[in-house]
Amino acid sequence: MPEVRLVDIHKKYPGVIAVKNVSITFTTATVTCLLGPSGCGKTTMMRIIAGLETPTAGDVFFDDNRITDLPARKRKIGMVFQYPVVYRNISVYRNIELPLLEEKLSESERKKRIQQVIDILGLEDSVEKEISQLDGGTRQKVAIARTVARQPAVILFDEPITNVDAEAKVQLKRALKELTRQLRQTIIYVTHDQTEAMTLADQIALMKEGEIVQLDAPRKLYNRPDDVFGGWFLGNPGMNFFEHRVEALDGGLGLKSPLFPGPLKISGLNGQDRITVGIRPEHVKLGREPSNFAVGGNVRRKFIVVGGHYLVSVELGDKIIKVKVDPVLGRQIEIEVWVECPLDWITLFGPDGRRLDANLSV
Ligand code: ATP
Repeated sequence: MPEVRLVDIHKKYPGVIAVKNVSITFTTATVTCLLGPSGCGKTTMMRIIAGLETPTAGDVFFDDNRITDLPARKRKIGMVFQYPVVYRNISVYRNIELPLLEEKLSESERKKRIQQVIDILGLEDSVEKEISQLDGGTRQKVAIARTVARQPAVILFDEPITNVDAEAKVQLKRALKELTRQLRQTIIYVTHDQTEAMTLADQIALMKEGEIVQLDAPRKLYNRPDDVFGGWFLGNPGMNFFEHRVEALDGGLGLKSPLFPGPLKISGLNGQDRITVGIRPEHVKLGREPSNFAVGGNVRRKFIVVGGHYLVSVELGDKIIKVKVDPVLGRQIEIEVWVECPLDWITLFGPDGRRLDANLSV
C-alpha cells in the first residue's frame, strides 16, 4: 500500500478557495480522518486524491510517483460514499463478487477475499439476501465490502455512516474499526463527526477554512490542541476559554484569575501581554468541600448530558466555567461548590489563538 502525499495543494473555485496550500502525508497502513465543519474543504481534498478534481496548484504523490495528472481510473483507489453504491436486485454475495470478476483473480483467491470481508464486516447472515431486503446500515456494509475486497491501493471514505440510524452507526463503527485493524490499508476517512474520528483514526487532520490546523493522534489533539479551534471543535461541549492580562509578578510574569486561589507565575512567554487559559469541562474538578487548590463558586445551571453525566455551570467571580461531573456527584451538588483547575490540564493560547509553549505554576 502506498504512502499518499499532498504537497502545497491549492484548490480555487470561482469566489472560494476550498483548499489552501495543504501539505500532508498519509502514512501506509494508517487511518487518517479529515475532520472539520461543513465547507472546510474535506471533500475537495479527498476528490483531489481520487483524481476526481484537479488541484489549481500543488502535487499528489503515491510513494515517489507524482500522480497529479493521472486519471482517476488508473489510481487504484476505492471509494465509499455517504449513500451505498450497490445493486438492489442481486444478492449480497454477488454484489461483492461482481467487481472482482473484472480483476484477473483465480477462483480460490476471489472466494477467499469475499469470505474475508464477509467475516470482518459480519455479513454472514445476509450473504444470500438481496439488497432490497436489507436495512441501510447493512447496505452500507455491503458497499464497504465491495470496495475493500478489490484491495485498492488506497481507500477513501466520504462520511460513510452519516445516513444510517443510530444503532446501525454503532455497528458500522465497530465493523470499520475491525476492518482497519485487520487490513492495515492506507485509509483516508472524511467526517464532520468527532466521535467517529476519535474512534477510528490513527491520526486526525483537523481542518478549518481550507487549512489543516493540526495533524495528530486523536488523544494528543484532544488533550493538547495546537489552536483554540481544536479546543472548541472537539469535546462535548468544547474547552472553557478565559482570557487574562499578563501582569508583573515577583520580578517575573504572572496572572490573577478567579479560577485559582492565588496569583500564578507564567514561564515561557514570548512577549504576549494577553493569554487565554483553556481547560476541558471534564478536566475541571468539582467538590462539595474546600480542597487545597480549589476556589468557591455558585452553581448557575446543571443538566444531564450523554452517559448520565452532568454539565454544571459554575460562577467564579466574573467568570462562568463549565464542569462535567459523574452522575452521583451531579445529583448531589446544590448551590455552593468548590472548583479546582489542575494546572496539568491547562493549555495556554496566545492572542493569535495558537498554543503557547508556556506554563503556569504556583
Ligand atoms: P461538507 O461536509 O459540507 O461537504 P467539506 O468540508 O467537505 O464540506 P467541501 O465540499 O470540500 O467542504 O467544500 C469546500 C468549499 O468549496 C465550500 O465553500 C464549497 O462551497 C466549495 N466548493 C466545493 N465544490 C465546489 C464546486 N464544484 N464549485 C464551487 N465551489 C465548490
